[in-house]
Amino acid sequence: MSSDAVIATNDDATICKRSAVDMGYWKDEALASLVLSKTRKTPEINRGYFSRVASIYRLVEKFLRMSGKCQIVNLGAGFDTLFWRLKADGHHLDCYVEIDVSPVTSKKIAKIRNSKALLTGIVSGESGDDIEFNVSDLHSQHFHIVSADLSNTLQVEAKLKKCGVNYGLPTLFLSECVLVYLDTPSSDSLLKWITSSFESCFFVNYEQVNLDDKFGAVMVRNLHSCGCVLAGIDSCKDKPSQTLRFLNSGCTGAHIWTLNEVYDGLPREDIERIERLEFLDEKELLVQLLEHYCLCTAWKDPKKFGFDEIDF
Ligand code: SAM
Repeated sequence: MSSDAVIATNDDATICKRSAVDMGYWKDEALASLVLSKTRKTPEINRGYFSRVASIYRLVEKFLRMSGKCQIVNLGAGFDTLFWRLKADGHHLDCYVEIDVSPVTSKKIAKIRNSKALLTGIVSGESGDDIEFNVSDLHSQHFHIVSADLSNTLQVEAKLKKCGVNYGLPTLFLSECVLVYLDTPSSDSLLKWITSSFESCFFVNYEQVNLDDKFGAVMVRNLHSCGCVLAGIDSCKDKPSQTLRFLNSGCTGAHIWTLNEVYDGLPREDIERIERLEFLDEKELLVQLLEHYCLCTAWKDPKKFGFDEIDF
């Protein structure tokens, strides 16, 4: 089970996203209802979060277009708002599930219950689409939040059953800065369970990489000093160790990019727009920071949807 320090990483991610949204990096109407506090982060952090959120969104949209009827499972979703952003952009989502530990899901559910805007995003308007709540789980026709420990595969399986997931439908599993907090045997067994249970799956994994160098060591030390243990650090050594964990867990292919490669590969007009938002004094610092995060996709695609062609 996660420590308080790991749970608190969600507050940090949410505050950083709010900072970038407030500065105009991207639009997110739902976020303000989930995080009230405003903290202005540095331009490097804002640009880093922009690359992270924009690239993940582009991968998800391409998966939705390619797959037709499909599902999304957001592992360690925290206060992420992807579901509301996709809905606002007109995407119909048949089954979207968020999983996190109960201290996080219960806080998110309490905020949803108090926000008309968030509630309106969840109900589909179809008859019989009532929202069922308890303290830590929420079920509606197409959107679910469930509490589970990702290192306990049986618990995850039981909760996904309650959401009515269909093991035959193409399913995207998103893990945004999450697997690194699970010890390697636990994340490996979660990934193996997913690839052996779901017929067609596509993983989008964002997290730290290249932690073996000097800058990486400082990142790890800073997290340790807040009490945060990176139990899965073995898989964050370098690009090959990140992709290998998926290939060894039943995926048949994988792609990986550092966030510098992502930043350079995003549409030029988007980068030119965000670079006009605020002055960046220390370009070198941004490059160093982005070299220590990666975006990885991996898939099992027996029906040949074409998951190997999805890039950001
Ligand atoms: N994915 C969200 C985002 O990017 O905004 C939140 C990221 S936050 C850095 C990490 C999240 O993983 C936290 O919400 C934490 O509670 C969750 N987490 C860590 N270990 C977990 C576990 N064993 N089971 C379920 N959730 C876990």
